[in-house]
Amino acid sequence: MKPMGPIPPEFGMANPLEIGGKSAEQWAGEGNTPLFVYDIDIVRARAAALRSSLPKTLDIHYAIKANPLPAFVAAVSPLFDGLDVASSGELAVALDSKPASAISFAGPGKRDGELEAAIRAGATINLESSGECDRALAIGERLGITPRLAVRVNPDFELRGSGMKMGGRASPFGIDILDATNVVARLRAAGADWRGFHIFAGSQALDSSAIIETQAATIALAGKLADEIGVAPPLVNLGGGFGIPYFNGDTPIDLPLIGNALSAQLDHRPDTLAESGFAIELGRFISGECGVYLTRVIERKESRGETFLIVDGGLHHQLAASGNFGTVVKRNYPVAIATGAPGAPTETVSVVGCLCTPLDRLADRVTLPIAGVGDIVAVFMAGAYGRSASPTAFLGHPLPAELLANLRQS
Ligand SMILES: *Cc1c(COP(=O)(O)O)cnc(C)c1O
Repeated sequence: MKPMGPIPPEFGMANPLEIGGKSAEQWAGEGNTPLFVYDIDIVRARAAALRSSLPKTLDIHYAIKANPLPAFVAAVSPLFDGLDVASSGELAVALDSKPASAISFAGPGKRDGELEAAIRAGATINLESSGECDRALAIGERLGITPRLAVRVNPDFELRGSGMKMGGRASPFGIDILDATNVVARLRAAGADWRGFHIFAGSQALDSSAIIETQAATIALAGKLADEIGVAPPLVNLGGGFGIPYFNGDTPIDLPLIGNALSAQLDHRPDTLAESGFAIELGRFISGECGVYLTRVIERKESRGETFLIVDGGLHHQLAASGNFGTVVKRNYPVAIATGAPGAPTETVSVVGCLCTPLDRLADRVTLPIAGVGDIVAVFMAGAYGRSASPTAFLGHPLPAELLANLRQS
């Protein structure tokens, strides 16, 4: 038997599961399994918790790559001050619900067409390299539009304990500290609208003191760079990195502690940042816990003493739960039998998807109420990096073409 992570408190013990007042069977009646359900009330609760804990002057942005479903973005956008996007597909979604002035575009590989779309719309581009700065300036000149450009800095520190490190090393993300001031000088000399700094040091951190340390280091770094340039950045985007408890032993972050520390840091910030605005951008903290993936058992089998529930979904929809997305060790997301009854006897089972690969395992030897064909399995924590982080849909990039060579009348 292997443990699983905690079910988000809003779903209780999940026996039987209700999402937004409806049973799993009712949702399956509306959408057929497999399907995702996102409870917007849970996003509202996370937004309220952020607002009540974090400094009032801090802008809170939603990084829509965590869940870019257009209807979802439209529903949650009013709760946040801005949207961060990572492709021109996401930019188009964001523009439906926020003005371009509240949208920023990050990502290490923005194509010319994507830079052009952002410049035409008036969104802020977070520059990730000196070459990208040149391309953005040239496109702005060709279009006769002043581009809004911020510089993403590759910090010389990392977010300790973060699930995905994005700083403190050689990196495709952001511009190295030593080059950052040169790039700012170049884009200002070219007449671009310099929007400030973006510093993102990591993701999925559950250690509140590490988050506090990183925010302090980020503010100090922005102050040092602003001193060198001699101009205050209009905005300092502090990144995010707030994690959520996916696995056994994970505990939620302490938002009031983080908020109090950040208030004190902003009160005592370097003089050069006195006039600057501040923002954070969060993806999974906002959308992760609101989502449930529902998938129906199509077969139950025993093999060499182990029991398998074979379901109609799999890693093609929920790659992260299968442990094949940014994790080294396979650990279990929280799962439940959504059609189970309270107090039912339990057993140890593995929940596997319908794909023909041993990687397609949604839960490995977990303890669940005894279930059979027709029951519905719920996989929690499916609101961020779920459906859209299945490989071809990630970030809304276009599908690759598939071409045939040697095509002749065989
Ligand atoms: C992915 C990403 C985010 C969101 O990260 P989460 O871990 O989902 O909060 C924020 N900003 C940038 C630049 C990103 O690339």
